[in-house]
Amino acid sequence: MNFLPVGLSIKGKKILLVGGGRVAFQKIRRLSLFTKNLTVLAPKISGELRASGVRCLRRTYHSSCLDGFSLVYACTDLPALNLKIRRDANRKGIPVNVVDDPGQSDFGSPALDCRGSMTVAVHSDGRDAARSVAWRNKIAGWLDRETALCGESRGRRRAKVFLVGFGPGDPGLLTFRAEKVLRDADIIFYDDLIDAGAIERYRAQKVYVGKRGRKKGLPQERINELLSRAARRYRCVVRLKGGDPFVFGRGGEELTYLRSKKIHAEVIPGITAALAAASDAGIPLTQRAVSSSVAFCVGHPEEKICIPNTGTAVYYMAGGHTQVIAKKFLSRGWDPKTPVAFVIRASLKGSRVLISALGRESKKRRVCPSPFVMIVGETISEKHRKASLRRSCCLRKINSFRKKSNE
Ligand code: SAH
Repeated sequence: MNFLPVGLSIKGKKILLVGGGRVAFQKIRRLSLFTKNLTVLAPKISGELRASGVRCLRRTYHSSCLDGFSLVYACTDLPALNLKIRRDANRKGIPVNVVDDPGQSDFGSPALDCRGSMTVAVHSDGRDAARSVAWRNKIAGWLDRETALCGESRGRRRAKVFLVGFGPGDPGLLTFRAEKVLRDADIIFYDDLIDAGAIERYRAQKVYVGKRGRKKGLPQERINELLSRAARRYRCVVRLKGGDPFVFGRGGEELTYLRSKKIHAEVIPGITAALAAASDAGIPLTQRAVSSSVAFCVGHPEEKICIPNTGTAVYYMAGGHTQVIAKKFLSRGWDPKTPVAFVIRASLKGSRVLISALGRESKKRRVCPSPFVMIVGETISEKHRKASLRRSCCLRKINSFRKKSNE
């Protein structure tokens, strides 16, 4: 390594840039974030440099021009002149940066990102400026996202309750925003569909509010109360739900309650089970000329089961009612050959897909491991599915289950 990264004090020091073109302008843009004591010297100075408000000296370079300056950037497009500037400056004990020539420079010029009193400087020891810029951009992008999110959660004094969608189970399907809020959370209220192991990594206190096994879950009023009490005690409260909070997730009820109590609340969407299941099974939910609409339907209790006027229907919570659903479709005149798919544990370990048809499902009661969604519609049929499948392994998986379900 030839260059030592240091933070140089420039208080009260004057900086000279020799050169009046694009290169000098780019340097000025960065340097002016640190100091106003900048001078550009060249016989011809570009309009953008003049407009930048920097001090401009329109004259031909001479070694005496360096007097009084503490740092010099040689930015001309004449290599011989740049070297002369360096020699002159060195004789006077002034360090020089020769643009694009680290071998002839006394100090480097890192890729910079400045935010208030914080600066990120990426240096490659003068070997790979493009890589320094790429790294700087990556770090800057990360900081941008971090700042945007922090401004809304941690930076705010007022307590906030976030209704967060955890997606179908695979933490890889969490949104970036959900992940950030979960990391920031002081307390997380979670229920079924969320594997406690998947939220272990967050520092927050975790409170289970679901129903386990045959035990009845907490009544909604009690959960509402817990949320408002937590909002009085903590700054960042998370109500975590499987899938999306607004799809069979009671997010609406909780949001209305929190608003009625004047508690600051925000909903962060998640990937709902229907979407995760469709992707897992390679079943498009809409497809040109096959299905132009999709409905998310509840499969329980029986009296709430409806048959929508749609191309594709996805039933949630359909355990024990798949036969009723199939019968209802037939009574509405749907073709018994219409394919039906059961997608079990979408996005999770051991996920499976079973393919059947409305006619067959109407004749028997199906016992399906939970959680699962039941998809009804023509887009399931293999001819359409094949076109949409990107992963061949997915097709194999489906075919093997089709074989089994046909047995
Ligand atoms: N808010 C959730 C739905 C909660 S209702 C969402 O948007 O996905 C619970 C139902 O969701 C389950 O009975 C099941 O039908 C479905 N479900 C949730 N996770 C699932 C998964 N990983 N695979 C298949 N179905 C799932």
